[in-house]
Amino acid sequence: MIAVDACAELLAHSRATALLASAAAVLNWDQEVLLPPGGGEWRSRQLAALAGLVHQRATDPRQAEWLACCEADAAFAAEHPELAACVRELRRDHDRQLRLPAALVEELARVESLSQRAWAEARKDSDFAAFAPFLRQMLQLQQQKAACLQRGHALPWDALAEQFEPGMTAASLQQLFAPLRQQLLGLLQRLQQSRRPPRADFARLRFAEARQEALVREVVAAIGFDFQRGRLDRSAHPFCTGLGGDVRLTTRFHPDNVMDALGSTMHEGGHGIYEQGLPQEHLGTPLGEAVSLGVHESQSRLWENQVGRSAAFWRWARPLARRHLGRWVDAFSADELFGAANVVAPSLIRVEADEATYNLHIMVRFELELLLLSGDLPVEDLPAAWHQRYRDQLGLEVPDDARGCLQDVHWSCGLFGYFPTYTLGNLYSAQFFAAAERELGDQSQAFARGEFAPLRQWLRQHVHQHGRRYLPDELCQRATGAPLSSQPFLDYLEQKLRSVYDV
Ligand code: ZN
Repeated sequence: MIAVDACAELLAHSRATALLASAAAVLNWDQEVLLPPGGGEWRSRQLAALAGLVHQRATDPRQAEWLACCEADAAFAAEHPELAACVRELRRDHDRQLRLPAALVEELARVESLSQRAWAEARKDSDFAAFAPFLRQMLQLQQQKAACLQRGHALPWDALAEQFEPGMTAASLQQLFAPLRQQLLGLLQRLQQSRRPPRADFARLRFAEARQEALVREVVAAIGFDFQRGRLDRSAHPFCTGLGGDVRLTTRFHPDNVMDALGSTMHEGGHGIYEQGLPQEHLGTPLGEAVSLGVHESQSRLWENQVGRSAAFWRWARPLARRHLGRWVDAFSADELFGAANVVAPSLIRVEADEATYNLHIMVRFELELLLLSGDLPVEDLPAAWHQRYRDQLGLEVPDDARGCLQDVHWSCGLFGYFPTYTLGNLYSAQFFAAAERELGDQSQAFARGEFAPLRQWLRQHVHQHGRRYLPDELCQRATGAPLSSQPFLDYLEQKLRSVYDV
């Protein structure tokens, strides 16, 4: 078989597998949004059946032959760089699948579902001791998983992180995080000395859900989420899932926090705009897939923060808010709404954190995760280590473990090596935005008129349309002319918050 034919077989196989996987994604979406409780049992069997089929296809031994055939032909990569990128990525996926023994994959799935239920109960009662045995078991399995995948990686943690962010290592993150932490702590200190902090009362006004929904729908359509190929629904935790042909967003509404609904919807909308911007002709192949979780998160953060928390955005959004939320908005100028969207207050809960403290939450989890995985931190000592870090870094006393180490679902469902992708998303978002403005010019005039297409087109051209063609490092270098750094993020945050806090 010649390389071009082998590659065609490989891509056809990949597309057919993606069809099954996206059918499972529809069932998952339905489970979170519509499914009545009585349907849960049968639904989990449907999902398990599809997962079995997807796994079978993903480990199909014919792929090894097709891959080897493509890789053996030196001219193939030079003549077809896009196809060669597909081969590189499918090789990565395939090797990963093969290195994990089926027994371990099944055991992980079994323990994940038990441990997630145990975590939910333990969090409700703030009872870490009830969750500890499950976390211990989960850690053992993660250590086994890392051992299977470790070839070519310095640390077991790196092997786990690779599935979320190719190329991310604990060492490279430590380098990126050290100056970030120092400067964030310095910035927080300066903000605390402000004599003119922004008004925080807008966030506490009560607005009916229907009014909030009308507002967020108009905003997310204005930034470019295509409702012809997407939906917005409600769920307990907002998420976005790309189904290939269309993209589903969810959000939530609290009567007394319209900023949360707006931020969450713009965030998920940003994920959705990325999914809608992936090249349709390559769906089901690596060229039609998102490159990494960090880059995915950069797209959500960029629309949520660089756009949705900018002064110019609020000049445009204030009349819109007035129209949907009513005369209460009259008491706030555009600048005051901009201030209200940028209140900084250290808090215990990551998902409610502001832009300045958010990354400190991530660094705490990252450090503790490394220690847990290496065995240097025994599970029973986790709550105390957590309390210590929140005291040292955020200046907060953690009153109970529900608001401490039990707050996030990730460890219970086996997501080790995942948390830092949130911070990478923040750093990438600022670096992409700075590069876009260097090319397009200052976007504030455009935002104030509700024109978001130039920015969206820039992201399409430099990020979305490439799928997984480049690894995250190379994508960043090509799009911004530099490797990822914390400096653009710190510059952006300093400039904005010093003006909001007048310091
Ligand atoms: Zn996100």
